[in-house]
Amino acid sequence: MSILGNYINGQPVASQSGRTAPVYNPATGEQRLQVALSSADETREAVHVADEAFATWSKITPLKRARILFRFKTLVEEHADELARLIASEHGKVFSDAKGEVTRGLEVVEFACGIPHLQKGEHSMNVGTGVDSYSMMQPLGVCAGISPFNFPAMVPMWMFPIALACGNTFVMKPSEKDPSTPMRLAELLTEAGLPDGVFNVVNGDKESVDVLLTDERVQAVSFVGSTPIAETIYATASAHGKRVQALGGAKNHMVIMPDADLDQAVGALMGAAYGSAGERCMAISVAVPVGEETAERLRDKLVAELDKLRVGPGLVDGPDNDMGPLVTREHLEKVKGHIQTGVDEGAELVVDGRETAIEGGGDGFFVGGSLFDHVKPGMRIHSEEIFGPVLAIARAASFDEAVSMINDHEFGNGTAIFTRDGDAARQYCEQIQVGMVGVNVPIPVPMAFHSFGGWKRSLFGPLHMHGPDGVRFYTRMKTITQRWPSGIREETNHFTMPTL
Ligand code: NAD
Repeated sequence: MSILGNYINGQPVASQSGRTAPVYNPATGEQRLQVALSSADETREAVHVADEAFATWSKITPLKRARILFRFKTLVEEHADELARLIASEHGKVFSDAKGEVTRGLEVVEFACGIPHLQKGEHSMNVGTGVDSYSMMQPLGVCAGISPFNFPAMVPMWMFPIALACGNTFVMKPSEKDPSTPMRLAELLTEAGLPDGVFNVVNGDKESVDVLLTDERVQAVSFVGSTPIAETIYATASAHGKRVQALGGAKNHMVIMPDADLDQAVGALMGAAYGSAGERCMAISVAVPVGEETAERLRDKLVAELDKLRVGPGLVDGPDNDMGPLVTREHLEKVKGHIQTGVDEGAELVVDGRETAIEGGGDGFFVGGSLFDHVKPGMRIHSEEIFGPVLAIARAASFDEAVSMINDHEFGNGTAIFTRDGDAARQYCEQIQVGMVGVNVPIPVPMAFHSFGGWKRSLFGPLHMHGPDGVRFYTRMKTITQRWPSGIREETNHFTMPTL
């Protein structure tokens, strides 16, 4: 069985670590390859290569860096189907959804192509007589990215296009569960003309990550994954003097007000809860209908829709299924365990996805869509992230109760409200303690030119990902205050703060 190694200095490099992890096709349950788990020394070598490449890459003009990204954008577009098939065959999500992921990543590349404008800095003339002040946004050096399994193309592309455009070099450590797509992106970057060593991929686990968090040549760490790991990454890398953005887990609620267009809300909820088998950090996992009547109507409609949910392989001849398998057998068992916990805690399991017969499912890691009702704060199926196709209905008696339920939750990644009432929507946007809010939009993922990030324990660090925050994260500001020789005529010694 082939072993996927690393991509260092513009070419694939076999790992000598002797350690590997299996990569599966979740739709069949078969192992498709092995991925190397690189040693600390191999990771240090990637950092060394990136550090060497920084000297020249950071001096290339932003316009030339952007032109390489323009070529990369064209290549990703040309290879979009191939990349989507690769994603589907290792992650399991359906082809159309995988293609959507490629497009959302590509949008960050398009944003990064505007780097000559984005990296301009600020300028003020005459901050004092004959004195001007301006800022430079300079690259940091070697930046590291550590990504989760659920978006093997999009999440790395939240990070590296902006980091590279700003003049940094990069070491990417993808998820060991679906590592082939980032490797392919590295090849396409080289084909686009990116100089060797500017973008490197190290496959591995904690051993590699620990190097990226502690090596003094690494200046910044971008992480996306589960909250316990995000918290550790933030603490360790910060303690080693790096700037860090560490995005963690989620439990996203959708509030359905009594006046909402229920058909629209249910349609949105089905996609948001069960799309990508619920393995999205912005998936809606809790529906919060306000009022008993809204709850009853919502439940009836959801049950009817769940009956029509098409679960099956991500790659099929003909129309796509609605959702595919989970990523690994281990994760499948974990999700089934969460369903059992919900039953044991006394929530009502209205639809049990464990019993769904999957056509063409074979030994794949499939589970159908599940629906719980009468879920309450305090139950583990409400407090913990399940990351599977399990939707909980948590009924609220009032708007205020719905808001409190969400604000009291540990996570604050995304949320949505469905209503026709502008005042309720406005109050919601103002009061809710969540980083990304949708009004009649179920998964409010900001576009590439805005920034993506949650609140509370869904994000550690002050800066969100991509958009303006991405440019701030990957640059260091230097502010220059200058006066030219003719202005020195009246120079005197200053022992107090100059007020110019
Ligand atoms: P994970 O935390 O298990 O792994 C993420 C990355 O960290 C992987 O590259 C993995 O190899 C590495 N890692 C795992 N354990 C480590 C350790 N002990 N030390 C160092 N590195 C380690 O997450 P996952 O299962 O791949 O992804 C799912 C999680 O990611 C969910 O919690 C989901 O909500 C979250 N996620 C969040 C966002 C967001 O924007 N907030 C986006 C996507 C996914």
